[in-house]
Amino acid sequence: MRGDLFPAESPDSPRTSRELLGRCLESGRLRIGEVLLGTDFTLRHLSDEGCDVLETHWDPHAARLIARFDAQGDFRSLKSAPDLKRGWLLEAGSLEGMELALEFFYPAALGLLLSWLRGSLRPNPLRETLDRQSGMYRITQLLRDDQALDLIGCRCGEGCLRTVLWDLSSGNVVTSLPVERRTLDDFPPDRIPLLCREACNLLIAAARPIANGNR
Ligand code: SF4
Repeated sequence: MRGDLFPAESPDSPRTSRELLGRCLESGRLRIGEVLLGTDFTLRHLSDEGCDVLETHWDPHAARLIARFDAQGDFRSLKSAPDLKRGWLLEAGSLEGMELALEFFYPAALGLLLSWLRGSLRPNPLRETLDRQSGMYRITQLLRDDQALDLIGCRCGEGCLRTVLWDLSSGNVVTSLPVERRTLDDFPPDRIPLLCREACNLLIAAARPIANGNR
């Protein structure tokens, strides 16, 4: 997918997240996570495509509150979980406004993609992330590979929309995820990927009780 968004060695390559977003709109990459982008700088839930009766917002900051709670009113601790509520329309008014709204829906998503396109994104293997843990999370270093695979398959595979770019350890890939969830080869041409560069705090926290049982 690098070619259409980031022509190598071209002065035309996007230099900022905003330029990258503009390139995505031009090239028809209008889906990101559960959000559908419009070339008129609108955003809505993917499942609300074609729906006329939506609650309209004009301030990009409204995305912060929309993204905070799910349809049941529960706090969304993971913004890339597939539980974004429906029923809203955000008219961001400009590319700048759309970029800001996306930062609330999917923090750092455009910046990570830009780094990946430039070839400067360095994913951290899970073992390196665990080795960095201290205090109450140091215990996660006892997590076995088979336990890690099960945990990742559940938390990252079913509970998150990001593409996992990291391995368990160098050369030891995350086999509990399908190939399309850990590589951008053949990524759908109408979608903007959400990338995961290293295990997040929620995954580390979920690993703790499992690793504790290995003492
Ligand atoms: S580690 Fe990455 S892919 Fe897994 S749940 Fe956290 S953010 Fe999502």
